[in-house]
Amino acid sequence: MIVNSKNAFWFTLLILFFSSLFFSPLTASATPERGEGPIEKSDVEDDAGLMNRENITNFNATTQDGAFKIFLDPGHGGSDPGAQANGLNEKDVVLDIALKTKEVLDNEYAGVETKLSRSTDTFVELEDRAKMANDWGADYFTSFHLNSFDGTASGFESYIYNGAVSDETKTRQLHIHTYLGDRLEVNDRGRKQANFSVLRNTAMPALLLEYLFIDNPEENALLKKQSYRDYLGTLTADAIADTYDLDKK
Ligand SMILES: [Zn+2]
Repeated sequence: MIVNSKNAFWFTLLILFFSSLFFSPLTASATPERGEGPIEKSDVEDDAGLMNRENITNFNATTQDGAFKIFLDPGHGGSDPGAQANGLNEKDVVLDIALKTKEVLDNEYAGVETKLSRSTDTFVELEDRAKMANDWGADYFTSFHLNSFDGTASGFESYIYNGAVSDETKTRQLHIHTYLGDRLEVNDRGRKQANFSVLRNTAMPALLLEYLFIDNPEENALLKKQSYRDYLGTLTADAIADTYDLDKK
């Protein structure tokens, strides 16, 4: 095609227009919030700066000879029960989910190693959870939590750090969130970003999962069942295996 200067002008304009369509979601960056402190719901951002499904291509995936090291962090524990409702403690439910996740990854998938921040009802400081994962040289960090609000909210959401994160962090969130969201028959509240301690202090891609609302009557009833906790743990293991393309044993 012969491009004269007039065509070139319109061509450039067209390119600029389409570039803005495609790249604006990538460059809309969240405001980094670097305050210290425990996990708080402040400064939560919905989907801002996250990649759209269509824009996902590749990131520099970790390729290695050894196994992928997946760190599993059940929230709260010991003197910190987490959210409580109708006889359920968040710390107990998320421990069961994380234990099942570990069991399935260990027993059913090849090329993966797992480590828990706690395997019993004990208190672990937030900073220590991140430090354990960093010291171990984890490839990925997943934190297990339940939500609570006023009894009316429901559903599942996932978080990555709201400061600077790698493309791998965003992509793995997309993979795992989509895997779970497509299978859990609950309200999908979306992929989010927040200044949570464990997300801020981990040196590897990290994700925090808020499975369901402990104070929602229907979801509370589901979470009371061991079979449902096992289901959530199995699904989470399968989601992690899916994003790392792990083979079944
Ligand atoms: Zn929690």
